[in-house]
Amino acid sequence: MLPAFSYARPLHLKDAVRQLSAQRAVIHAGGTDLLGCLRDGIMPVDKVVSISALEELYGIRETNDGGAIIGA
Ligand SMILES: Cc1cc2nc3c(=O)[nH]c(=O)nc-3n(C[C@H](O)[C@H](O)[C@H](O)COP(=O)(O)OP(=O)(O)OC[C@H]3O[C@@H](n4cnc5c(N)ncnc54)[C@H](O)[C@@H]3O)c2cc1C
Repeated sequence: MLPAFSYARPLHLKDAVRQLSAQRAVIHAGGTDLLGCLRDGIMPVDKVVSISALEELYGIRETNDGGAIIGA
């Protein structure tokens, strides 16, 4: 059974970083590992912060100096 935790789905990176600064907060990406870990009580978690709505982390794009930014 999943333990009780709060859940946040911020829209901006700054807000996500702020939410993640809380004690026992973790990132929720796809959830492949995380949900299993929560269910099995592998780590204590009070807050789950989803990164799925952060447009700043979407996709792969080229930078002006020839580099690349790879999103989460
Ligand atoms: C059946 C199965 C098979 C697998 N096979 C493989 C395999 O062959 N090779 C392999 O490498 N892995 C494998 N994995 C592991 C899994 O795919 C990886 O751990 C993957 O990173 C999980 O991604 P997710 O997006 O679902 O992350 P989540 O489950 O959401 O998160 C996993 C952990 O990473 C943290 N996290 C997530 N995103 C970020 C981020 N952007 N920055 C910092 N922390 C973050 C979370 O807080 C959590 O602690 C397998 C897992 C399962 C269940």
